[in-house]
Amino acid sequence: MKNSEDKLKAARLLREKAEERLKEKALGMTLNITEVRAVKLIHELQVHQIELEMQNEELLSAMEQKEMATEKYIELFDFLPSAYFNLTKEGNVIAVNLSGSQLLGKQRIKLINSRLGFFISDETKPVFNIFLNKIFKDRVKESCEVVLNVKDTRPTYVLLTGIISEDPKECHIIMVDFTERKLIEMELIKAKEQAMAASKAKTDFLANMSHEIRTPLNGIIGFTGLLMGSNLDKSQEEYMSTINESANTLIHIVNEVLDFSKIEAGKLELEISETDLFELSNQVIDLFKYQTLEKKIDLILNIDPQIPQFVQADVTRLKQVLVNLISNAVKFTYSGTITLDVTETPTSNKYYSTINFSVRDTGIGIEEANNEKIFKSFMQCDSSTCRQFGGTGLGLTISNQLLDLMGSKLNVESKFGEGSNFFFTVQFKKSNQSATKASENGSSGNNDSWSTLSPLNYNKILVVEDNKINMFLAKTLLKRIIPNCDIIEAVDGNDGIEKYTKEQPDIVLMDIQMPNKNGYDAASDIRKLKGAEKIPIIAMTAGILTGEKEKCFEVGMDDYMPKPIIIADLVRILHKWNKKQVETKHLL
Ligand code: ADP
Repeated sequence: MKNSEDKLKAARLLREKAEERLKEKALGMTLNITEVRAVKLIHELQVHQIELEMQNEELLSAMEQKEMATEKYIELFDFLPSAYFNLTKEGNVIAVNLSGSQLLGKQRIKLINSRLGFFISDETKPVFNIFLNKIFKDRVKESCEVVLNVKDTRPTYVLLTGIISEDPKECHIIMVDFTERKLIEMELIKAKEQAMAASKAKTDFLANMSHEIRTPLNGIIGFTGLLMGSNLDKSQEEYMSTINESANTLIHIVNEVLDFSKIEAGKLELEISETDLFELSNQVIDLFKYQTLEKKIDLILNIDPQIPQFVQADVTRLKQVLVNLISNAVKFTYSGTITLDVTETPTSNKYYSTINFSVRDTGIGIEEANNEKIFKSFMQCDSSTCRQFGGTGLGLTISNQLLDLMGSKLNVESKFGEGSNFFFTVQFKKSNQSATKASENGSSGNNDSWSTLSPLNYNKILVVEDNKINMFLAKTLLKRIIPNCDIIEAVDGNDGIEKYTKEQPDIVLMDIQMPNKNGYDAASDIRKLKGAEKIPIIAMTAGILTGEKEKCFEVGMDDYMPKPIIIADLVRILHKWNKKQVETKHLL
């Protein structure tokens, strides 16, 4: 009580003193101030007052601007299309914008202090934890993709981007919903998988179909070939050769379609082996000798004698490209010359040879506008070409794709009405085999060399083949070559093993695709039988599946013969594995 009275007393005293001082000041001023000075002072006061008013206005406007900026920031923060979170080290929410609360489906107030990890799916939670740790540990910008567990219907895919804040105990996170994109992406992947499965089914179907179509065609080709060599009158011979040609054309089309689908499905692989370029070029030319003779066109092979005779190449595919080009040249040339040029581009490379091939003709030529079109699948120069010359429009596409596998490309130079030149260059790995050595050991595969060998001395030949027509053809051809020979027939692999054991033949001709037991398994089982270690087993293969030939050798077969079986091949094989010769080989 006393204390408060003292305080009041002190305040009263202070007030009295202050009033006294003010009186003294006023007295002093009136004493010293002149009239002029007073006017000046008033002026200064007025200026100060205006100054203060102006400063006040500025202050008010600055405050207004600050308020507006804050409002804008809040608007931006809230209506930003991406969600924003301010998180602690532990992942607790300090601040969140409207988009963030909408994305998580919770009121903002309820999100504050709750853990963001709580909204993330169990599968992606570890990803989120690593992401958060890295932001605080490495202090760099980080991103990751996680799935939110927020909607009942479907998962929400979000992209998180985070960075440490000015306060190192906090971080800023931006969250973007990319569910729509992710769903489209997943659908695309599914569609791609389905398309790939469909493509595989198509290739498998084509491979099967081609086998089914080839088998009867092989029969037609084989038997018409045999009949053509018999005594026929002129019109019968004509009919027969028409059937033979048609069947050959059909088989060619089937092969083209199959090759095309295999290349499309990425299933075609090159089979590299020692290749004789001289032999290959001559063989290709030989194939067209008859046709060009009939059309009175000159067919010339210009092979530079300096090129290496042997290189590492896929002989079948290289031949296929050249056959395609020459077959087109023959088709589209009415008179003049077709030339196959084979030359080498000199190089200092020890391991590779650069070989140039060119097929020139003096045919109808190609209009410049069509130069690119002809390399596209199923494309011909114009629709009348198809009617006039036939063809699938696949030949050049396949040739180009095969060359692509060899690291090369088909080029064309053509003058409409004057002729065309199709050319390409391939780098082949050099072979160790020298030209002289090859001709010495006779491995050039020249059929003529067999004619000088001793007579065939097979007593029993086992033919394992499920298809009746093919069996009949093989039997007929064998009877022609060795009339006195016993031919034992087996209808599948199991039957083949049984007949082998019972009959002990001198050679086995083995089909590959057969029911119950295929040719690979049957050959491998026969090879294990006592006394069968050295019996020649020859595969009869359509050669349509990749690695078929290699597999034949792997299972212990000695050689293979392409289907359709033609007499020249059979003669060659029979001589090569002639009993006496084989024995001599083993003695040596
Ligand atoms: P096709 O099976 O129709 O011959 P290709 O792909 O081999 O298919 O050829 C496509 C087209 O290119 C042919 O239809 C033809 O119009 C044109 N062509 C190809 N080679 C020649 C050539 N030597 N001379 C003229 N035109 C050619």
